[in-house]
Amino acid sequence: MPQESRITREDLEFDRLHIWHPYSSVTDPPPVWPVAGAEGCRIRLADGRELVDGMASWWSVIHGYNHPRLNRAALDQINGFSHVMFGGLTHKPAIGLCRRLVDLTPEGLDRVFICDSGSVAVEVAIKMALQYQHARGRPEKHRLVTIRNGYHGDTFAAMSVCDPVTGMHSIFSGALPKQFFAPAPQTPFSGDFHEDDIAELAGIIAEHHGEIAALILEPVVQGAGGMRFYSPRYLARARELCDRYGLLLIADEIATGFGRTGRMFACEHAGISPDIICLGKAMTGGYLSLAATLCTGEVARTVCAGAAGCFMHGPTFMANPLACRIACESIDLLLESPWQEKIAAMEERMRAGLAPCSLLPAVKDVRVLGGIGVVELARTPDFRRLQESLVDRGVWVRPFGRLVYIMPPYVISDEELDTLTAAMVETLTGLD
Ligand SMILES: *Cc1c(COP(=O)(O)O)cnc(C)c1O
Repeated sequence: MPQESRITREDLEFDRLHIWHPYSSVTDPPPVWPVAGAEGCRIRLADGRELVDGMASWWSVIHGYNHPRLNRAALDQINGFSHVMFGGLTHKPAIGLCRRLVDLTPEGLDRVFICDSGSVAVEVAIKMALQYQHARGRPEKHRLVTIRNGYHGDTFAAMSVCDPVTGMHSIFSGALPKQFFAPAPQTPFSGDFHEDDIAELAGIIAEHHGEIAALILEPVVQGAGGMRFYSPRYLARARELCDRYGLLLIADEIATGFGRTGRMFACEHAGISPDIICLGKAMTGGYLSLAATLCTGEVARTVCAGAAGCFMHGPTFMANPLACRIACESIDLLLESPWQEKIAAMEERMRAGLAPCSLLPAVKDVRVLGGIGVVELARTPDFRRLQESLVDRGVWVRPFGRLVYIMPPYVISDEELDTLTAAMVETLTGLD
C-alpha cells in the first residue's frame, strides 16, 4: 500500500478535530470509516473489511472503482498535459467531450459550457437564463419558478431553488433571491396524470410569467430533496407551460443523466427537450469533479447578442483536460455496454430484493426506478445506529433523513446487489 494511504489513529483524530465532512457537525461528528482502497463495487476499509457499494459515491461511480480503462485514460492524459487554461486555447479532450454531449443529449442542445461541479453548472444555467431574458429586452424576468422537494446544489443561486424547508432557507433568507415554489408533483411515475397535479404551477406561471426567467426542475426523479419519482406527463405539461408563457425550461439532470433512470436522460421519459440542461456526477465515472451546462443555439445566440456580448462566466479550471479525457472514456464505456439491459435487470432485482421491506412496520414506502432503489421510513431513525448496522452487514449504504436508498454502480453483480438489498431488509427489520 502506498505510504500516503495508510491511516493512523492520529490521522483519524486530526480528521475529527480539523476537517469538515459534508453536512456534519464539528462538535459532535458522526463516525467516519477510513478507506484503504476501492475496486469494482467494493470499498476496502483500513481494517481489511470490504463493503459492497450501494451509493456509487453519490451517483457518480457508474463503472465501479479503479477501472482499468478510466485509469489508462487518466494516465495517458497526465503524461500529455493535465491542464491548460481554456481562455484562448482548446484541446482534444474538451472537443471530444462536447461532441459526445451534443450527440447524446436531447435534440437542440448544441452549445456546451464545461464547468467544475454540479452546483456551478446550475449557477451557469441560471445565469444563462437571466442573460437571455435581459438580451430579449425583458430584464424584469429575473426570477425562477421551481417545484418543492428539489435539490440543485449548495451555492447561492442553486440553494435559492432547493426545497425551502430541507434547504433551511430560514437561515439564509436575507441573502437568498426569492423564487416561486409550486408543490412537488404527486402523480407517481406510472400513475394516471391529472391536470390538477400541475394546476398550482400553471397558476403561478400564468400570474407571474412577466417576472420569471425560467422553470428549473429535476426531471422525473427528485434526488437529494426526497428521492421522489413523478409522472413524465407532468414534465411534458411543464414544457408546454414554458413555451406558452415565454419561460426557459432548465432540466437539472446532474443526478439522473447518463442512464440512471433507464433512459440516457430522464427528459426522454417525457419525450421533451429542455432549453438548458445541467450534467455532472456520473460524467467522469466518478473520477474527478466535472459538469456541463448545455443550451440551445437560440439561447446561446440571444445571450451573446445582449449587452455583455458574451456569456459572463469562465472558471479557472474550465474544461480541465484530465477530467474531460476521463469523461470521454466514461461515456464510451457506457455506450459500449448493454446499459439499458443492465439497468432494467437492476430495477427488477432491486424491486424483488426490497419487496420484503414494504411489510415492515418501520417502512412507509418502497419505490424503485431504473438503478435507484428507495425505502422511505415512517419516522427518522437513529442515523448512527442504522449506519453502523449497515456497515456491520458489509454494505456501504448511507441513509439520509427518513430515506435508506441505493443507486449502485451499473456493473454490480447479482450477488452483490442481493447483498445490498438483504442488508437493507435485515437492518430495517431491526427497527421499531
Ligand atoms: C448533486 C446535485 C447537484 C450538485 O452537484 P455538486 O457536484 O454536488 O455541486 C445539483 N443538482 C442535482 C440534481 C444533484 O443531484
